[in-house]
Amino acid sequence: MGLIARYQERLPFAPGDPVVSLEEGSTPLVLAERVSERAGTEVWLKLEGANPTGSFKDRGMTCAVSAAVREGAEAVICASTGNTAASAAAYAARAGLTGAVIVPEGKIATGKLAQALMHGAKVIALRGNFDQALKLVRELAERHPIALVNSVNPFRLEGQKTAAFEVLDALGELDALCIPVGNAGNVTAYWKGFREMDSRPRLFGFQAEGSAPLVHGAPVEHPETIASAIRIGNPARWEEAMEAFTGSHGGVAAVSDAQILDAYRFLAANEGVFCEPASAASVAGLLAHGARDAERVVCVLTGHGLKDPQTALSQAGAVVPCEPDIAAVERAVLA
Ligand SMILES: *Cc1c(COP(=O)(O)O)cnc(C)c1O
Repeated sequence: MGLIARYQERLPFAPGDPVVSLEEGSTPLVLAERVSERAGTEVWLKLEGANPTGSFKDRGMTCAVSAAVREGAEAVICASTGNTAASAAAYAARAGLTGAVIVPEGKIATGKLAQALMHGAKVIALRGNFDQALKLVRELAERHPIALVNSVNPFRLEGQKTAAFEVLDALGELDALCIPVGNAGNVTAYWKGFREMDSRPRLFGFQAEGSAPLVHGAPVEHPETIASAIRIGNPARWEEAMEAFTGSHGGVAAVSDAQILDAYRFLAANEGVFCEPASAASVAGLLAHGARDAERVVCVLTGHGLKDPQTALSQAGAVVPCEPDIAAVERAVLA
């Protein structure tokens, strides 16, 4: 069952409204024993890469695109570091709408680009960064009858808050939630979801060192990090995110690319969980900064590792070449 059907009474949709769904949500929440050992506390992983297009963006997109159809929109548009583009393209295709996505040229992971193109979206590579792309699509959506499906769209947050419901359904209670922060829509959505359920876990947001505007308290003009999904210098949900950190008695901190990649490899090799680099920032942050005295922590792994095969191959061991005879295979396997 999709999110809108499952949580209709908590979402701004009425029975009979058009619903565009790929049965997103209901993602696994798994206990991470090795991470728990390293962190010295009980750690659970929310595997958002298990959504239909491989990231949590689908939670928001089912709501944003359903609302766009209800409003009679014929096209949807977004600026994206990759996953919003992939998700918008898929849901637009499913709804029979035209999709256009603006991405920073050369700065999005291969899998995400392949998705957006395969789903038939018009993919526009901007000679600029995400922040410039977002500014331009906001202007475009004001001038034309095109639905903007970035997380500045309130329906996106409504959909994404359901992840908090799922975490509470599964665990009952938790002390802290660790989450990567880019445009800061997702942390805002979790906080909304938790508050609607009268729950107040501490929210710890993590940004990449080279693009950590919330940590520094000022926009970053040229954000840089290997974690392309969070390469954002001027988050649209700045104030709300800060409110979530303060209101929950959590905080926001930075992690280096080296720490992100360490967590990324550790999760794959020791937990069997392959997430994308940006997602690993949640675990990297927990390992580097802790979650104070939290006894039960959930780390949100926002997207699937297959999104970014290039980074994976640059971080993993090499393949073993082998002649097709038994002695050679024996040597290769047993060495
Ligand atoms: C979009 C995204 C983020 C950042 O979420 P925000 O809502 O922009 O803070 C983190 N990780 C992945 C994989 C994403 O796609």
